[in-house]
Amino acid sequence: MRCPCNSGDVYQACCGRFLDGDANAPTAVALMRSRYTAFVMGNADYLLSTWHPDTRPKQLELDPEQTWLGLVITDSFDGGPWDKDGVVVFTAHYRHNGARGSMTETSKFIRLRKQWLYVAAGSVG
Ligand SMILES: [Zn+2]
Repeated sequence: MRCPCNSGDVYQACCGRFLDGDANAPTAVALMRSRYTAFVMGNADYLLSTWHPDTRPKQLELDPEQTWLGLVITDSFDGGPWDKDGVVVFTAHYRHNGARGSMTETSKFIRLRKQWLYVAAGSVG
């Protein structure tokens, strides 16, 4: 199975090992991809576990009417294995109640105890 994050890799070699808990995503972009894949697969637990504790919601209900169709990462800043934080700009395509749409977001990530965590949507710089 091809990974839902559109990397072109097979799922197990891409986001699968992160969602399975076998490894931590080494970069902010890898975490962003795996969180998108978690949205596709309806894995709210993974989304919460990769959310910074300061901004994490108590619980997360995924909308079953929302089908994710594709991810395009358009830019990223820092977010490497030795950075403290990073930013990823992406567009995600979806279908919601039969209508297609897309969202573009600039996501901020922080590396805490060797694990990349999603903080929030934010501005660059
Ligand atoms: Zn992937």
